[in-house]
Amino acid sequence: QAKQGGRARFSFYQADMDAALAERLEMERELAEAIRAGQLVLHYQPVMDARKGTVGSVEALVRWQHPTRGLLYPGTFIPVAEDSGQIRELGAWTLEAACQQLARWKSMGRHPGSVAVNLSASHFRDSRLVEQLGDLIRAYGVGKGELTIELTESTLMSDSESSMQTIQALRGLGLALAVDDFGTGYSSLAYLKLLRPQKLKVDRSFVRDLPDDPDDCVLVRAVLGLAEALDIEVVAEGVETEAQRDFLLAARCHQQQGYLFSKPIPAEDLSGRLSAWP
Ligand code: C2E
Ligand code: MG
Ligand code: MG
Ligand code: MG
Repeated sequence: QAKQGGRARFSFYQADMDAALAERLEMERELAEAIRAGQLVLHYQPVMDARKGTVGSVEALVRWQHPTRGLLYPGTFIPVAEDSGQIRELGAWTLEAACQQLARWKSMGRHPGSVAVNLSASHFRDSRLVEQLGDLIRAYGVGKGELTIELTESTLMSDSESSMQTIQALRGLGLALAVDDFGTGYSSLAYLKLLRPQKLKVDRSFVRDLPDDPDDCVLVRAVLGLAEALDIEVVAEGVETEAQRDFLLAARCHQQQGYLFSKPIPAEDLSGRLSAWP
């Protein structure tokens, strides 16, 4: 009896796993098609100067306009692309689309400050990355500081010798570096000092309970103090309330990103809010 129950349960899980695997394989196949068929799209979320209420820079966030499932968010397909090795191709598409949009905005007499693109760990470690970025910068006339690469702490800390070299090369191309989701990984202070990223993006988990959680208040102030000492800018992610905004402003964190200001939106919808250029 017990044995039978066990078997039944086993085959139930087996069926579940088969279904999950089949779905994943299907998504891999569709994703390859999506990149070619132009189903990927970038939305842009402004990083505000919260003092002035103006757009300081923008972050490009990828979406998949799926033919039957509607608009898919990166949490559903980036992990698939990472597992299947399609993340480099997806990353190459994202970088080019962002450079193209930057050039388009400039030709319209608008400037987003800097366009930030998220880079996955394996793409960051790809030996062709630096050359790829050099080509894009030339092709789209990307100026110094106009393109920012966002990397997480874990991406930067693994194999730190070679990532240091890549960072130097990217800096040589005039790119800016931002450490994304700062505070959720492990980064050593020594490494921050060595790397000198332009920006730290404080993860939204530290912003969420501001200003009520005293620990988060202390942590955010500490990051701001550290960054100031090292001459690194700080962006607060996930700002949703006026109370969060005001706490951060009082702590002299002016660069803020979050739903309070805007969700990620299509490029066209943002153009009107960008500053005039040249
Ligand atoms: P991230 O780089 O930390 O991006 C911020 C995420 O937080 C975005 O989710 C954004 O929509 C969301 N967000 C912004 N403001 C708020 C807020 O006030 N409240 C809340 N609850 N959420 C907010 P999204 O677009 O779903 O992206 C998720 C993650 O996917 C990104 O996290 C990034 O790590 C990754 N990602 C996005 N685009 C790309 C890409 O082109 N390439 C790679 N490799 N990863 C990407
Ligand atoms: Mg990011
Ligand atoms: Mg982030
Ligand atoms: Mg985050």
